[in-house]
Amino acid sequence: MTDRLLRIDSIDTRYGESHILFDLSLAVDRGEIVALVGRNGAGKTTTLRSIMGLTPPTNGTITKDADRLDGLDPHEIRKRGISWIPEERRVFGSLTVAENLRLAAHSGDGDQANRFEEIYAQFPRLDERRAQKAGTMSGGEQQMLAIARALLGPETDLLLLDEPSEGLAPQIVDDVAEIIRELNERGVTVLLVEQNAEMALELADRAYVLETGEIVHESTAAELLDDRETMEGYLGVK
Ligand code: ATP
Repeated sequence: MTDRLLRIDSIDTRYGESHILFDLSLAVDRGEIVALVGRNGAGKTTTLRSIMGLTPPTNGTITKDADRLDGLDPHEIRKRGISWIPEERRVFGSLTVAENLRLAAHSGDGDQANRFEEIYAQFPRLDERRAQKAGTMSGGEQQMLAIARALLGPETDLLLLDEPSEGLAPQIVDDVAEIIRELNERGVTVLLVEQNAEMALELADRAYVLETGEIVHESTAAELLDDRETMEGYLGVK
C-alpha cells in the first residue's frame, strides 16, 4: 500500500487569460523524492505556485493527507506542513545567518530556541557562520540557509524545491544534492523542480516530465534516465 502525502488531481491553472497548466495530475508518497522536470517555461514553477495557493488552480483538486488545499490561503497551506523554496532562494544578503534564521522562525509556533539548535546541528556549516552576512556566502551555502529557513516556522513534512541547482558550480550542485538526500533520510518528503534533469533524476525516486503545461511522462527516475528518447525529446539531454 502506498502512503500518499500529496495528490494533485486534474488541475488547470491560469495567469489571467493565459492558460498554463492543463489537466495536470501528480502524486507524491510520504518519504519520496519526486522530480518534476521539463524545459524552460513548461510550467514547473506554476505547479508549485498552484500547490502553495499563490496561483490557485481554476479547477481540479489538491490534497495533502486527507486535507483539501485548493482554496486555502498560502499561510494556511504552510501551516499544513508544506514549505516552498522559490528559485530566488530568499535569503537576506545584508543580514547574518543567525538573523536570517530568527526572521524565518518568527511565524512559527512552539519552542523556537530548540529548533535553532536542531537546525545548527543539522547544518554545521551554518553553525560556524552564525555571524556571517548571508550575501558573502557561496551559492551553495546560501541554498543551505534557504533550506534551513524553510524548515523553521511551522513543522514541515513536504518541501517544494524550485531549481536548487540554479547558478551553482557543479561541485556545489553535488553538495546541495547531498543536503537534499540527508533531509529526505530524516523524513522530509521532497518535490523537486529542476531544469537540470540529470541532477534531479539521480536524486529522485520517481519523476514526471512536464511539457507546455501537460504531464507527458511518468516513471521511476532510473527508468527515465535510461529512456534516451524522452530525455532528448522533452528535456534536450544528449
Ligand atoms: P522556468 O524554469 O523558466 O521558470 P517553468 O517550467 O518553471 O520554467 P513557469 O515559470 O511555470 O515555467 O512558466 C510557465 C508559463 O507561464 C510560461 O509561459 C510563462 O511565461 C508563463 N507565466 C509565468 N508567470 C506568469 C505570470 N505571472 N503572468 C503570465 N504568465 C506567466
